[in-house]
Amino acid sequence: MSDLFNFSAGPAMLPKEVMQQAREELLNWNNTGVSVMEFSHRDPAYVKMARQAEQDLRDLLNITDDYEVLFLQGGGRGQFSAVPQNIAAKSATVDYLDTGIWSGYAIREAAKYVSKVNVAGGCLETGKGKAIAPQEQWQLSDNAAYFHYCTNETVDGIALHTPPAGIEAPLVADMSSNILSEPLDVSKFGIIYAGAQKNIGPSGFAIAIVKKDLLGEPQPELSSIMDYQLQAKDGSMYNTPNTFAWYLSGLVFQWLKRQGGLAGIGQLNQQKAQLLYDYVDQSEFYRNEVHPDYRSIMNVPFQLADDSLDQKFLQEAAAAGLIGLKGHRFVGGMRASLYNAMPIAGVQTLIDFMDQFQRKL
Ligand SMILES: *Cc1c(COP(=O)(O)O)cnc(C)c1O
Repeated sequence: MSDLFNFSAGPAMLPKEVMQQAREELLNWNNTGVSVMEFSHRDPAYVKMARQAEQDLRDLLNITDDYEVLFLQGGGRGQFSAVPQNIAAKSATVDYLDTGIWSGYAIREAAKYVSKVNVAGGCLETGKGKAIAPQEQWQLSDNAAYFHYCTNETVDGIALHTPPAGIEAPLVADMSSNILSEPLDVSKFGIIYAGAQKNIGPSGFAIAIVKKDLLGEPQPELSSIMDYQLQAKDGSMYNTPNTFAWYLSGLVFQWLKRQGGLAGIGQLNQQKAQLLYDYVDQSEFYRNEVHPDYRSIMNVPFQLADDSLDQKFLQEAAAAGLIGLKGHRFVGGMRASLYNAMPIAGVQTLIDFMDQFQRKL
């Protein structure tokens, strides 16, 4: 099975080296004779590993001491309700960009907890494809408790590559599908959060990077396990964390450091995406409908000229060892997710397959 490439959007492929290490130490972690899954999260050896994982993440992203780094449960969507309940009052207005399917979910969840969710802007069609409306067109509220957007829309393949400047409200970003994919200036954000299963580790786990000065009075009904202040006070161990996911994420952070950190992996990610977009753009048979300035580096949706061939494409791709290419059920077509763990050889193999597929028709 060594030639298999997994383009799944999430849970997604993890670095092979990390998976091999996890397998080797699965039954005997740290020379203890037991699995990391069988360890108490209060055990000094486990705590040491957990704190090292936090430090490695801080190193990768240059996170300063004025931010909490929280390891939480409930995936990306758990944060859709945690954010408003932690940093907005029930009477608050909050601003959201609506740029795709995940933004839509975040907006509908937030609406349960605050008096007004103002959709400040969204996408528009241009002659060069689908784009995010320029910032001059956004309708911001006065005194919004925060401004939320999704940096990378996993389903739609649309990304806002630079954080908006000059917004008064703290920026809150859902980075579930592009965190750790390129260098990032954390200091521009109030909160960054991400479900783990795209670029970090196993699903059900989430990371929140929260500026300390945003933590004041949470909404009274906020569940304790989602309470940023409480979790920060207890080192993200208010309740039993997902100990295995934390461990595996830690291995991924160390792997990332070995790849030259975010600068190193960022360059490779650019190269991978460029290869695939260039191929799609020169092709008469495949197309991507996103404006070049807003194309995702992580998730590349593409359509076949004749969608009655979709099934055949997927079957033959799987037979060639290329799996997970089916587009999201809401949008159809294909999607190749090129997260950090996808080697460039995977992209090259995909392009060769796509080329042969359309030549044979
Ligand atoms: C996958 C994803 C989520 C949801 O993550 P869950 O862990 O399934 O809750 C949220 N936002 C974005 C951008 C995602 O890609």
